[in-house]
Amino acid sequence: MLDKHERNINYMRISLTDRCNLRCRYCMPETGVDNLSHYSILSLEEMAKLVRIASELGIQKIRLTGGEPLVRRNVPQLISYIAQIPGIDDIALTTNGTLFAALAEELKTAGLNRVNFSLDSLVPEKFKYITRRGDLSKVKEAIFEALELDMHPVKINMVVIRGFNDDEIIDFVELARKYPLHVRFIEFMPVGDLLFWKQDRMMPSQDIKAYIEESYALTPQKNILGNGPARYYSLEGGEGSLGFISPMSNHFCGECNRIRLTAEGGLRGCLYDKREVNLKTALKNGSSDEEIKELFIRAIKAKPSRHHMNNGWGEENKRKMYQIGG
Ligand code: SAM
Ligand code: SF4
Repeated sequence: MLDKHERNINYMRISLTDRCNLRCRYCMPETGVDNLSHYSILSLEEMAKLVRIASELGIQKIRLTGGEPLVRRNVPQLISYIAQIPGIDDIALTTNGTLFAALAEELKTAGLNRVNFSLDSLVPEKFKYITRRGDLSKVKEAIFEALELDMHPVKINMVVIRGFNDDEIIDFVELARKYPLHVRFIEFMPVGDLLFWKQDRMMPSQDIKAYIEESYALTPQKNILGNGPARYYSLEGGEGSLGFISPMSNHFCGECNRIRLTAEGGLRGCLYDKREVNLKTALKNGSSDEEIKELFIRAIKAKPSRHHMNNGWGEENKRKMYQIGG
């Protein structure tokens, strides 16, 4: 379906939960997180029903995210529901990887096509510091398990934070050189726990790329499966590739093809637009599929032409990324 800016909306990100087993410093506060009750979030069956209705409007790609999606029980069950919906041709997952390895085979059998791992440091102590509690070895195990299971393309997302992990950029490049991994460098955004790190920590993609090119030859590549906003480059002699995601320095809103469903059934046109259409209430009230379709159309129509995140530094964004679905 086309929105009013002629963008073809065919991708829905679903937040399975606002809960997480980590507390990344830029994303969640250490304590005082008010989690949604089990009653206020959509059931897996409700999520699958909404995907079916969305698929009838042209949604073809689904990404499961959160919070940490794998802290929710029965994710393979949800994936198998979605995999059976005609018109859905791609199911992907964004995860911190800590719970992935044990579930990997089940997820794949259920129909998961691809996985993105979020990983901001390859140094165990720094990883523990930024996540406040994570165990890096679990994430590494998860990444190799995904490669083993041929869940290509396996992507690694690194949020580059000046003064914290910019000294590891080359180590991440080396991961893409040695393994068939797609490493994406993401600009730090003014969402989440802004009281922690501020604008001066944001390193523009252009600077990251220029720094890498001091040591490596990069060749622009056609986009890798996933239809995402990254610009990809192949690495001379490398197994994988590098990508740069620049929501801040070069917003990709003109190509944005996504809508977002929160765990409590709020449908959003944009991560940074606070307006939501409430689908949970519609489901509870017994609305028909046609009525729910109208609500999807309303959210898609309301999708703004672009975000204004650059104005957001210093404010505390009331709804955080882990609540909307990163
Ligand atoms: N828990 C899962 C994970 O970490 O992959 C999924 C949800 S998480 C909110 C999704 C992504 O959002 C992660 O890659 C995380 O690094 C990213 N993220 C969160 N806050 C961010 C920020 N302020 N700037 C850039 N990326 C951010
Ligand atoms: Fe959890 Fe992902 Fe946020 Fe880290 S970035 S606290 S793993 S939701």
